[in-house]
Amino acid sequence: MKPIDLDVLIIGAGPAGALAAAQLQREGRKILVVEKQTFPRFVIGESLLPHTMDLLKEVGLLQAVEKCGFMKKTGAVFLRGDKVCNFDFADQSAAGWQYTYQVPRAEFDKAIADAVQARGVEFLYGHTVTAVNFSNAHADVTLEQPDGTRRKIAARFVLDCSGYGRVLPRLLDLEEPSNYPVRESLFTHVTGDVRPPEREQGKIWVCVHADGAWIWIIPFSNGKTSVGVVATPEFFARYPGESEAQLRAIVMSEPNAAARLADMRVDFQPQRIKGFACSVKKLYGPGFALAGNATEFLDPIFSSGVTLAMESGLRAAQVLARELRGEPVDWQTDYADHVMQGVNTFRSYVTAWYEDKLPTILFAAQRNPDIMRQICSVLAGYVWDKSNPYVVQADRALGLLAKISGKMA
Ligand SMILES: Cc1cc2nc3c(=O)[nH]c(=O)nc-3n(C[C@H](O)[C@H](O)[C@H](O)COP(=O)(O)OP(=O)(O)OC[C@H]3O[C@@H](n4cnc5c(N)ncnc54)[C@H](O)[C@@H]3O)c2cc1C
Repeated sequence: MKPIDLDVLIIGAGPAGALAAAQLQREGRKILVVEKQTFPRFVIGESLLPHTMDLLKEVGLLQAVEKCGFMKKTGAVFLRGDKVCNFDFADQSAAGWQYTYQVPRAEFDKAIADAVQARGVEFLYGHTVTAVNFSNAHADVTLEQPDGTRRKIAARFVLDCSGYGRVLPRLLDLEEPSNYPVRESLFTHVTGDVRPPEREQGKIWVCVHADGAWIWIIPFSNGKTSVGVVATPEFFARYPGESEAQLRAIVMSEPNAAARLADMRVDFQPQRIKGFACSVKKLYGPGFALAGNATEFLDPIFSSGVTLAMESGLRAAQVLARELRGEPVDWQTDYADHVMQGVNTFRSYVTAWYEDKLPTILFAAQRNPDIMRQICSVLAGYVWDKSNPYVVQADRALGLLAKISGKMA
């Protein structure tokens, strides 16, 4: 019988894969990270949440990130016409981090992957996982190498962190459609953004367009700013033209974004992603688990993707390390239920956003400061904090609050 080469093969070197690799390396496991692209590579998802700081610290990667000099993100500002709801992470109900970073992902992902590699973890860049066969308590993984030839590697466990590649969901027929309608995003980086001063400079802006779209403005420390629009395909169809003209027309038709970006110069041809919401039938099975965007992706509105990717990558690695030590583990309660607690909390907020409940709350004439602090903690990524009623009973609490806020409007 062919010997088993590895304890764990990780597919993908994004935040989920890098955090899983960092944790498994500390556990002394023989691992390999297989990454289709070469780093640095562009990927969207640039606004972190404060909870990522806890996760980076836990696996010893915070210093590597701090060295990069990224823009400090101290909160999130929601704007609709002349109404503003300004969250500051210093004003949370939880004792969490009061800031995080706005990160060009090419640099951020490379910084953490390089730091993990420097600890002795092998990364194979430019290698694509094309097949995985599970038999005899191990997985035979087929890789396509940069020269187009194939190579097989035997691993005891496969952790799929392939993000939008969704390798195991596709190969094992685990894909499930999302309950959300198809939305689309058009985005680029620009220069010429007129930023607010001082502490306000690094906050993300979410500008609500009168016709039902929303626009993100994410400032970087390199002078560039990420700008993107999220809307239904019907909304985009009302703005014909090539992608730069379309993005410009949409941004200029929303007064708050227009005020900041009137002189914007586009850094690269705007890119488009359509139908990004996705789901899976299950998060684990014999010999494998899924983490990050290879599981479920909801929507970019609350910048939750990287936080959920890191939390799930790290958690999967912790459960797996125990299993590999021969300890009893229950993947459902120890892993899937934990991950879904976070996903489902954000799901309540995403749903409330598109049903106009959350905008009704955020743009109400009067807001209860204690409740806003609890909501701020959720927006900071503390979605596993069971002491927060806006976590444990998010649907109910947001529904009731929207009714009260609507009556006071
Ligand atoms: C429009 C939009 C805006 C967003 N904005 C935000 C935001 O502001 N903040 C935020 O936190 N999140 C945001 N997200 C979500 C964010 O992009 C993802 O949640 C995050 O990148 C997931 O990380 P990951 O590690 O799971 O996957 P990724 O970062 O996608 O990494 C997966 C890696 O796997 C590799 N791979 C794929 N297939 C294979 C294969 N066959 N073999 C080997 N390697 C493979 C890929 O090359 C890639 O490098 C946004 C998403 C969208 C669609």
